Amino acid sequence: MAILERTDWTAIAVALGSNLGNCVQHLQQAIAQLAALPSIRRLQVSPVYQTPPVGPPQPDYYNACAIAETCLAPHDLLQQLQAIEAAAGRERLQHWGPRTLDLDLLLYGDRQIQTPDLTVPHPYLTQRAFVLIPLAAIAPDWVEPVTGEAIATLAQRLDSTGIERLGSMEALAESP
Ligand code: ADP
Ligand code: MG
Repeated sequence: MAILERTDWTAIAVALGSNLGNCVQHLQQAIAQLAALPSIRRLQVSPVYQTPPVGPPQPDYYNACAIAETCLAPHDLLQQLQAIEAAAGRERLQHWGPRTLDLDLLLYGDRQIQTPDLTVPHPYLTQRAFVLIPLAAIAPDWVEPVTGEAIATLAQRLDSTGIERLGSMEALAESP
């Protein structure tokens, strides 16, 4: 008799950012690596946005968000995200400085997690238009558990000056 194992899957949201090198390619490779993980399913990707940098002077960012389901525990997922960052040549040189790839875990179901190396929901989620606008494109009705408000409502409240929707990741990757 086959043994059926029940796996628990939790909805997650991840922010992707890049402002060094071939940014679209970094985002696209990160998505491909996430999609290839057996512990991730039902991956959906937002359009890509070009956004002004926060922090020290540096090039504009390319930002996107992904939602999916995972059977990984939060810290194991963070480890996977950091491995994908490392594969893109990510170096932590300067706080909020330029990077080839930044992957932040925004939401893990409706869990609230506060540990030294992982805070969920991501601490700046509700303040950053460059995160909320891409996320609202794919998960407008997701209720952020700290404020109790929907992602679309939180996004509408922020100043979106300078945030430009470039198009889908596939379309950008195909254009020369
Ligand atoms: P930032 O994304 O704020 O620019 P980094 O990407 O360099 O900074 O991350 C710094 C640290 O933030 C990581 O080592 C990680 O342990 C921690 N961290 C805490 N909460 C999260 C989260 N929700 N997603 C990703 N990293 C997180
Ligand atoms: Mg980060």
